[in-house]
Amino acid sequence: MEKLSARIKALSPSATIAMNQKGRDLKEKGVDVINLSVGEPDFNTPDHIKEAAKKAVDDNFSFYAPVPGYPSLRQAIADKLKRENNLDFAPAQIVVSTGAKHALANVIECLVEKGEEVIIPAPYWVSYAEQVKIAEGVNVFIETTVDAEFMMTPEQLRAAITPKTRALLLCSPSNPTGSVYTRDELRAIADVLAEYEDIFVISDEIYEHITFDGDHESIAQFENIRERVIIINGVSKAYAMTGYRIGYMAGPEWLAKACTKLQGQVTSGATSIAMQAALAAMTGDQSCLKEMKEAFLRRRDLVLNHVKDIDGVKCTTPGGAFYVFPDFSSYLGKSAGDRKINDSMDLSIYLLEVGHIATVPGSAFGAEGCVRISYANSDENLEKAMVRLKKALAALS
Ligand code: PMP
Ligand code: GLU
Repeated sequence: MEKLSARIKALSPSATIAMNQKGRDLKEKGVDVINLSVGEPDFNTPDHIKEAAKKAVDDNFSFYAPVPGYPSLRQAIADKLKRENNLDFAPAQIVVSTGAKHALANVIECLVEKGEEVIIPAPYWVSYAEQVKIAEGVNVFIETTVDAEFMMTPEQLRAAITPKTRALLLCSPSNPTGSVYTRDELRAIADVLAEYEDIFVISDEIYEHITFDGDHESIAQFENIRERVIIINGVSKAYAMTGYRIGYMAGPEWLAKACTKLQGQVTSGATSIAMQAALAAMTGDQSCLKEMKEAFLRRRDLVLNHVKDIDGVKCTTPGGAFYVFPDFSSYLGKSAGDRKINDSMDLSIYLLEVGHIATVPGSAFGAEGCVRISYANSDENLEKAMVRLKKALAALS
């Protein structure tokens, strides 16, 4: 007999992971698929980080680590927040988890009461809405459009706030749109929230090192809401360490304690060896950050040049992360033979099965009509993929 909880039945699978798997499956069948679905750097982890992981094995980092992470790593994160973001966090305010995804899940679980609302500007990263659902919170989406550069205005935020609002989930640079809020735009958001003492900001800054027009700005810099900002970050994107699964939260100490209690019952904390590697990443040579960023900028322009050339497609120029998020609405309703493209999922599947490029449908990010293209891939593959994209779209009528 199959018996699943209503909670898990209501949960949608991660579309980023599902499309990645579909791409892999087709590739295993011998099809030459170019995978632009899942968002992960295509670079190998830098050597000095790999060496630290190997050394951790040899040095017997094989025992349970402290649940919130090694003190040395929490200190390194506090130092990083001071050095790069000019933010004062004590190690006691930081909890290391199994990826930023897990850090986020902990925070949402600890903060959001059943029935409380979490405001999420759409398009949003797939896991936000589902994690709120697991916590039995209510998602309140704020629609933004390609014409508004996918940016939420302070007025939209104010209009979405109710007595039940517990948190705003902000992602800048954004996955999936690549939009980046400027300092002034963040200040305007902070000024709205300053009027509401019991609303928290969960600020996902995982793409902070991939910004193309100046340095990263954190909403935690504004004193009027400083105590209510929780930063989510990690080493996956910045240091090409997605598989190591190390992320963290930095926020009020009472929340850090709660996250520690929760993960003490669920995972016992992050992996010892991966934490040592993350320590090396955060304290070692930082030149890899610049090298990867330069490659991403070049690839963004490569992809944009092609996408902007396609008839009927609207696309912003992303200021960060490694995604473009074109609006292909004008292609919905078209057909190729007896295959009709009704929505972005149909389009994504068509691009995979006919064009042999894996993408993620916009519907998964709350933006029907769009498709997310990750350009964390080689220049050569991206060139090939863009030719395939144009050809597949041109075959629709
Ligand atoms: N936040 C955003 C916006 C992401 O795109 C991702 C994807 N990896 C994560 C959080 C989670 O990162 P990880 O769990 O690999 O640290
Ligand atoms: N965050 C990446 C993405 O959006 C990786 C997959 C995931 O963690 O869901 O594709």
